[in-house]
Amino acid sequence: MRRKPGSLTVLAGGTGSAKLIRGLAEVIPQENLTVIVNVGDNIRLYGLIVCPDLDTVMYNLAGVADEKRGWGIAGDSFNAQKMLACYGLETWFNLGDRDLATHIHRTALLAGGLKLSEATRLLAEALGVKARILPASDDWIETVVHTSEGWMHFQEFWVKRKAEPKVLKVEYQGVEDSKPADGVVEAISEAEAVILSPANPITSIQPILDIPGVRKALGETEASVLAVSPIVGGSPVSGPAGRLMAGLGLKVSAYTVAERYRDFLDVFLIDRRDEALKNAIESLKIKCIPTDIIMASRRDERTLAEFIIKTLRAEGASTSA
Ligand code: GDP
Repeated sequence: MRRKPGSLTVLAGGTGSAKLIRGLAEVIPQENLTVIVNVGDNIRLYGLIVCPDLDTVMYNLAGVADEKRGWGIAGDSFNAQKMLACYGLETWFNLGDRDLATHIHRTALLAGGLKLSEATRLLAEALGVKARILPASDDWIETVVHTSEGWMHFQEFWVKRKAEPKVLKVEYQGVEDSKPADGVVEAISEAEAVILSPANPITSIQPILDIPGVRKALGETEASVLAVSPIVGGSPVSGPAGRLMAGLGLKVSAYTVAERYRDFLDVFLIDRRDEALKNAIESLKIKCIPTDIIMASRRDERTLAEFIIKTLRAEGASTSA
């Protein structure tokens, strides 16, 4: 497979991914970036198709994201939802007024017959995004969490119920019959390097890996595949990854994450405080590099992105900075 010089493909979820993508977009031209985004947390609300991870990635690349909150558009208001509440509708999933415009337009494009990948391209272009944002699949995949209180959509588990119910099982409904969106497999096969951004391994990365053909493409690509651990010192930096992993009987550790990606991963960045895991991870035939992987500021995001580019160059990728 011919590799496109300088091209970088990133697998992404929401908050952690957005931070790294912001950093990468500062150190390489956005045009060289392709972001393959989880669709398992997409949800229908008020008759609209809401794609939280796609929008988080898009708003961040467009420079309009609310970086403090980690979701939505900076400075947005919430008047429409106040009105929806007047009508007696539930409003546990916050949708700002400007954010709602994205969902209204996307839903209309889909109703008009466009695929999610086509709708995403139009939305991103309109917002001036130069990177290519690809939903992992055009098909409807829904991450469902089976809990002690019954099954619920992942958003209901995390946003409405604050990850309180005991997790028994996680299921990606529809994934077995799904296909990767156009361009996804090529973006993995033809990239100089592939990065798994720090994302929830259960609800952001796994629903991408389970789409038939994706895991195989990662295993077969000549690109270096690098991941950043979302787990630091036995817990996630944010979000419900720890609750979900523990519920599934997995040890909450960077090692567990490495093990889940062992069939395709070349390089794994872990936090310095997890240095003791390096030998065990390297025994999986994955090069393990302890470094600073917490991004608490824009400066941290850029520093980690620069470190990744340097590491990938050392691995032989001609990634242009
Ligand atoms: P979420 O778990 O639903 O928030 O899903 P995401 O895919 O957005 O995952 C966020 C993941 O990124 C979590 O597992 C966090 O631990 C991780 N994360 C968030 N911020 C950082 C960071 O600054 N550094 C690293 N290494 N991981 C992060």
